Amino acid sequence: MMKKTYLGLLVFCLSFTLVEAQVEKSPVAPDYNKLQQIIDEAYKLFENDSAGAPADYIPELARVEPDLFGISVVTVDGRVFSAGHVEHCFSIQSISKVFTLAMVMEQLGQQAILEKLGAEPTGLPFNSVTAIEQQATRVGNPLVNAGAIATTSLLEGKSAAAKWKNILAFYSACAGEELELLKDIYESEAATNARNQAIARLLDAYGVMYDDPEKAVDVYTRQCSVGITTKQLAAMGATLAAGGINPFTGVEVMNAENIPQILSIMLSCGMYDYSGTWSYLTGLPAKSGVGGGIVAVVPGKGAIAAFSPRLDGAGNSIRAQKAIAYISQQLNINIFDPQSVGVE
Ligand code: GLN
Repeated sequence: MMKKTYLGLLVFCLSFTLVEAQVEKSPVAPDYNKLQQIIDEAYKLFENDSAGAPADYIPELARVEPDLFGISVVTVDGRVFSAGHVEHCFSIQSISKVFTLAMVMEQLGQQAILEKLGAEPTGLPFNSVTAIEQQATRVGNPLVNAGAIATTSLLEGKSAAAKWKNILAFYSACAGEELELLKDIYESEAATNARNQAIARLLDAYGVMYDDPEKAVDVYTRQCSVGITTKQLAAMGATLAAGGINPFTGVEVMNAENIPQILSIMLSCGMYDYSGTWSYLTGLPAKSGVGGGIVAVVPGKGAIAAFSPRLDGAGNSIRAQKAIAYISQQLNINIFDPQSVGVE
């Protein structure tokens, strides 16, 4: 009798400790106080790093305050951890390519993406025309400009206006908040995007443009000009990490079956001609934009987003890269490390 009571007590204590441990455990970190501490450390470490320069081929981007720096982590269960200028709204730019890809993959299926757009890194700059001439699919992959404009041209919709409306609604559902167009950025880029127009026309000549090239470039320019904060960007990444379910609203916004393919393209092509080195250093699928944002996805756990306008030669934000790499290394998260993903 006594023995049974002791055993019962032991089981009770043990299960209480386990429940408590589970509650305290963040899906992206062993301990969420530690996670906040690591984010603060990353902010302090790179706060005064002024290497690189903001993009200037889009005049409005050259006017962004270069010292802005923000970091946010959103977990799949909707917890938010941040440091720095996380209220600042910047343009999503090329990170948008991932989410338009998700829409088109949902509409046309995975095989059509492979056949029409491809999944090969170009090894060349994001707006390369040489890559179009060299690659068998011409567009290379959906995360360089050629592939992204082709992706946007594939999107279902009666008109350019209808496509744009659907894009903004889908991005907002992924962020769990209403997003808006940054009008100044859009107008500035629309007035200076001759190169993207040339890319679209070249693709048209090769028979791989699926809408009027001018309209496709306009919708693409709008999607790049969507305003976003680091928290909203991390939420978009966390939606990918959570099998397509937005961690704030609980709404299933995309098909979970397509997410491994989307993340695979992010890993091989998301950081342009630096993607191989990025993968080697972090083992995390990520996407950058010339607005200074980067989001890295930790499948099943959450996402790390950072923003800083100064870029390297490939067009990737220098401080955002450093902050994300630091946080992921400190947390020991890397999809190729069996200790880090799926093992608690
Ligand atoms: N809108 C930008 C462009 O088309 C996006 C490029 C980027 O973020 N790398 O040039």
